[in-house]
Amino acid sequence: MSSIQQNIEHITSQIESAQQKCGRPRESVQLLAVSKTKPIEAILDAAQCGQRTFGENYVQEGVDKVKHFNQTHPELDLEWHFIGPIQSNKTRLVAEHFDWVHTIDRTKTAQRLNDQRPENMPPLQVLIQVNTSGEQSKSGISGNDIFTLAELISSLPNLTLRGVMSIPANVPDYQSQLAEFEKLAELKQQLADKHDNIDTLSMGMSGDMDAAIHAGSTMVRIGTAIFGARDYPKSS
Ligand SMILES: *Cc1c(COP(=O)(O)O)cnc(C)c1O
Repeated sequence: MSSIQQNIEHITSQIESAQQKCGRPRESVQLLAVSKTKPIEAILDAAQCGQRTFGENYVQEGVDKVKHFNQTHPELDLEWHFIGPIQSNKTRLVAEHFDWVHTIDRTKTAQRLNDQRPENMPPLQVLIQVNTSGEQSKSGISGNDIFTLAELISSLPNLTLRGVMSIPANVPDYQSQLAEFEKLAELKQQLADKHDNIDTLSMGMSGDMDAAIHAGSTMVRIGTAIFGARDYPKSS
């Protein structure tokens, strides 16, 4: 077994024990393998042990990978999630290649993704990126803007609003992590009261996965713990 496959087994059992500890059913948390900056071979390796969903942050890199796998390994039927910041001039590439987008925080982005989604593809599954910590430097929206954006997305035929995502402040202690995640879980509930199809809470990374699962995460986003450290800078 390769080290990537071992890592996936390890994380999967961590997810299972976190689910058990708080009495959640098995398989209520999905593992999104964050493959940004990692080569095709690493993704193939993960896919061959059953990993189907992958997250990418950089548009062009992600598009190249999507095309590669559609052409050379259609049988794997991989699902691609865009989890990076989206500039307006890149929305078309995202709309034409990805299955999910986690980082919608503006009406303009939502509108463009809707307009540019090809007719022969299913609706793009989207999450609103929320800023729960109120930090200026973080992306994501807060307060009433969330509900306004949710209304707009719900009216767009080529987008399906599935829930919310956040990248909380990096705090080491479990209780503070839990408090942040519980805010997001409550928000998801409020959206679910108003809109259909809300079933996704994308929260939890390597350092705060347990707290995220405790608070109700349905999708954890894990990169380094599966693929190892990234060895080139996070700019593109
Ligand atoms: C890179 C990234 C991750 C994964 O981070 P790791 O520390 O490598 O596990 C998760 N979510 C988002 C939005 C990211 O950009």
